[in-house]
Amino acid sequence: MNIQKKTNQPSIASFFSKTDSSIIKTPKKESEPPSIRVENKEVIKSPSSDSEDKPFALAPTKKSRKRVLSFDESGPDEKSNASNENIKKTPTKAVKQMKIIDTKIEINDEKDSIFTKIEQTTITPIEQKTITDTQSYNPGKTNYDPINDACWKLGSDVPYSSLSTTLLLIEETSARLEIIRILSNFFRSVLSLSSRDLVHCVYLCVNKVAPDYDGIELGIGETIIMKAIADSTGRTVEQLKLDYKSKGDLGLVAEASRSTQRTMFKPKPLTVSLVYKKLKEIAQLTGNKSQQRKGDIIKSLLVSCQSHETRYLVRSLIGKLRIGLAEQSMLVALAHACIRNEYSNLKETTLKEHLDNGTHAVKDAFCQCPSYDILVDALVDKGGIDKLKDLCKATPGIPMKPMLAHPSKGIDEILKRCGQSEFACEYKYDGERAQIHLTDDGKIYIYSRNSENNTSKYPDIIERIPNAFQSNVKSLILDGECVAYDIEQKKLLPFQTLSTRKRKDADIKEIKVQVCIFAFDLLYLNGESLVEKSFRERRRLLHESIVCIPGELVFAESRTTSNIDEINMYLEQSVKDGCEGLMVKTLDDDATYEIAKRSHKWLKLKKDYLDGVGDTLDLVVIGGYTGTGKRTGVYGGYLLACYDKDNEEYQCICKLGTGFTDELLVSLGNSLEPHIIQKPLAYYRYSSSLTPDVWFDAVKVWEVKCADLSLSPHHHAAIGLVDEGKGISLRFPRFLHERQDKSVEDATSAEQVADLYRRQEKIKKIDPDNQADDDDDMY
Ligand code: ATP
Repeated sequence: MNIQKKTNQPSIASFFSKTDSSIIKTPKKESEPPSIRVENKEVIKSPSSDSEDKPFALAPTKKSRKRVLSFDESGPDEKSNASNENIKKTPTKAVKQMKIIDTKIEINDEKDSIFTKIEQTTITPIEQKTITDTQSYNPGKTNYDPINDACWKLGSDVPYSSLSTTLLLIEETSARLEIIRILSNFFRSVLSLSSRDLVHCVYLCVNKVAPDYDGIELGIGETIIMKAIADSTGRTVEQLKLDYKSKGDLGLVAEASRSTQRTMFKPKPLTVSLVYKKLKEIAQLTGNKSQQRKGDIIKSLLVSCQSHETRYLVRSLIGKLRIGLAEQSMLVALAHACIRNEYSNLKETTLKEHLDNGTHAVKDAFCQCPSYDILVDALVDKGGIDKLKDLCKATPGIPMKPMLAHPSKGIDEILKRCGQSEFACEYKYDGERAQIHLTDDGKIYIYSRNSENNTSKYPDIIERIPNAFQSNVKSLILDGECVAYDIEQKKLLPFQTLSTRKRKDADIKEIKVQVCIFAFDLLYLNGESLVEKSFRERRRLLHESIVCIPGELVFAESRTTSNIDEINMYLEQSVKDGCEGLMVKTLDDDATYEIAKRSHKWLKLKKDYLDGVGDTLDLVVIGGYTGTGKRTGVYGGYLLACYDKDNEEYQCICKLGTGFTDELLVSLGNSLEPHIIQKPLAYYRYSSSLTPDVWFDAVKVWEVKCADLSLSPHHHAAIGLVDEGKGISLRFPRFLHERQDKSVEDATSAEQVADLYRRQEKIKKIDPDNQADDDDDMY
């Protein structure tokens, strides 16, 4: 976002002109910025080039950034459109069919008239783009043109600087729609000019290098990164540590350290593909000398970084981009980019339906098949959005986002909701979700609720489960709960016992806690997805495909009844048997498997709900209050927040000070120490009266129980959903335990908080028609 230009290179203004012949370059002195005349009409003087010998100038302030934006927007906008006026449809996949010959494009696909038009409109400007332009790249520009406003040329690698500029703009923007627009503009250029790089751009935007289920994670130890920063900037680790302590963000520290450094030679600019490749290599390195090798790669990248690239590279390495971009928004931006490029001749009003349908198709495809490699390949190479349904579907070996249940507060509510529909009551086991896959080649995988690969955690299940498959079963995806189990006593054990098992690479000989799988659904069988079938049908197929092995793999206990007394007795029985309560599932009516949805076709009825608010809440810890008296030396209380998915922000919901033992206060405090940040993140919503003594990065999720929920002028949870100006807070919140299996984006959402509030008995009494929202939520 730096407007400075190098004098020996053309200004960005030249890229908005129609042809070379319309550009008249005025001779320039060495010390003067170039001045360029476009079509004899307008003289656009490029901004000062005083950074000529300062390639690593400090990051521009917000003020200077604004200046850049206005330069871009007021200047050559019209001309950029003019140069592109004949192009009705931006080339996406066809880019591959073009070859650049000097300043002309050779068209291989004769049939496509669009590209013939491109030939007539000389695209020399794209050709001429150089690294200079990346400094004034502005994906936030209004009327963004994916070709003319990009800062790299057709067919070349996407410069990493264009991505880091996009991330910077997103970081400085709080409105979700604007974030989506900025990112989709960037993706449009990538699709149009270098579609092969799109998948790498997507991965870097969500700070991943592989699908979650591959288990290849970024997140390198700070010590290695600090050492690499020190080596590549000439600063000492001690100096860096001091800065880190005051800034609380190693990315910013690294950026400032790079920008104060003078270099002899300007390094070769980084490309998105190279950065992606190196990050993946770092994440996969193991064994002897891997730390040394990681350090070397990081150093080599850092040396090539310019301006904000340093910040985002370091944050990627740490594993936290901190730009407030949720995966769901990235998917929307991706869908919008494809649609806008495909229908670039449509007006905004007509485009809306396409945008909505496209977004739905992309999100749905990703739920069925959460792999960006497959998704982007389908979008770029295999026919685009229209083909997603065929290409991104349930596949053994790739986890599906599970269906979740809505909480319910009592049997009355269940009967009311289910109406005349028949439903099954199943035991609600207290373990860990296990999605078990058998692939055609006989491999078995186990995935968690969050699509993590738990296969190496359960070698015991992997060993014995093939015995449970009927001989006709060639491939399947089974949904179930993995529960700690005492084989001798034939007794279920609580989740706490299960959580003592090793989380990765368990050795079968060392396993002490035995587990039993309680199968409750079948999502795929022998080449066919079952998600569109009714639960009754899926359950029938499940029972036909599996042979129970007592104590190892059995069907979930279930009863089909709508008699209140029977349900009550069954609920009591489930709790006596060591379960949390019941899961109530519609059998026939709309009883499909709703991937990635919290559906009303599944209701959870926990025993605890009956005297509480309906459910516990999983909240994000964002701040700590210094303890006094008996709690001196530890945090005496914490500030907790729910997650608002629409605005992608954490909204404070309560101060929490009960439910802790003295030991817990010490260990929880210690575990939060590495996550202290100097100031609240841009996407924390809180009142100043609640400002904690210490802010934490959003990393920890705690399960909390409360007496009830009330409207609050201080807390911001679900603000605007129940009351225009007030949020919701928890009364008498109590810590239960940490939810290590939940990411912060899986925390209780603002929608859920509003839903719980509406459900409260007292609210219903005041307004008997006030029912909780009936819509199923995408999560
Ligand atoms: P959620 O998963 O709904 O976000 P949570 O993680 O707090 O919430 P619970 O509310 O305790 O979990 O219950 C939902 C979980 O119960 C399911 O994700 C699943 O792992 C588990 N479960 C146990 N028994 C069953 C069953 N019979 N059918 C479906 N899920 C079950």
